[in-house]
Amino acid sequence: KGMVVSFGEMLIDFVPTESGVSLAEAPGFLKAPGGAPANVAIAVARLGGRAAFVGKLGDDEFGHMLAGILRANGVSDAGVAFDSGARTALAFVTLRADGEREFMFYRNPSADMLLTEAELNLDLIRRAKVFHYGSISLIAEPCRSAHLRAMEVAKEAGVLLSYDPNLRLPLWPSPETAREQILSIWDQADIIKVSDVELEFLTGIDSVEDEVAMKLWRPSLKLLLVTLGENGCKYYTKDFRGSVESFSVKQVDTTGAGDAFVGAMLRKFIEDESALQDEKKLREVLRFANACGAITTTKKGAIPSLPNEAEAMLLLDRAQNT
Ligand code: ATP
Repeated sequence: KGMVVSFGEMLIDFVPTESGVSLAEAPGFLKAPGGAPANVAIAVARLGGRAAFVGKLGDDEFGHMLAGILRANGVSDAGVAFDSGARTALAFVTLRADGEREFMFYRNPSADMLLTEAELNLDLIRRAKVFHYGSISLIAEPCRSAHLRAMEVAKEAGVLLSYDPNLRLPLWPSPETAREQILSIWDQADIIKVSDVELEFLTGIDSVEDEVAMKLWRPSLKLLLVTLGENGCKYYTKDFRGSVESFSVKQVDTTGAGDAFVGAMLRKFIEDESALQDEKKLREVLRFANACGAITTTKKGAIPSLPNEAEAMLLLDRAQNT
């Protein structure tokens, strides 16, 4: 059976105990484990797929807590390294009253940025069916070289490459660097998922029209996706394109919706890769991915709200009957 190996950062978000406050006003914070690539691995495992996470954590209480969370969720930590000199990354995140998310990162440098090529579990990567990654691991050395090497090894082994840039502008030296670096690995991926916000950032055009999305199309791609929040997603392949509506849910916290979407999609692809060439199958996969994204918005936090198969099927069935 196929496995998803997800590469990058795993960290702890500290979120205010009260919502709608600035970081400075927050009376206290709760630990919310996250990091998009780790969320994706857990999303796959929760849906019954095989998954592993590759990255580096601090050899501290938080780092071992996070490795424990991977294992408790059925994600292999065989690719996790620990750094004795640097801490596990932290991010303070708040959803302000104006709806904007505010981030403050503690990465000076954090353990995730210090993963080296020599520490990569290449065997694990070669055995994957899908190798998934973001762009945060491209920001600083030595992790950047480790990321590029891991992609190369995966590609040589015939593994499908899946890329969700997950733009975090405050982590980059400048917006121009972010754009250039995010696009610098565009041609290597088989599957790319961007959000509407990332589409605008990368193209400089505030529109989700097909002509704009096509600016991100490359002949090397098998599938390009644009997620549209409550409006579902759009898909592009060399042979067909279209959109799939999402489900109507009561949104509480969107954190992790994109990761749930990607995890659900990859969960299906490791089972049946032919969905990449078959529009009918692909639309089914994306309906499932939309359902998983939608469910994730109905609860607080990322990892606790990622659905299992039964929860996803419940929403799909309910929608079919209305
Ligand atoms: P994140 O908030 O994790 O950064 P993202 O911006 O990458 O997410 P979104 O487009 O917000 O991704 O959401 C991913 C998918 O989740 C959407 O394509 C959609 O299927 C589903 N989704 C998100 N928000 C909602 C919503 N309010 N109602 C229904 N479905 C939703």
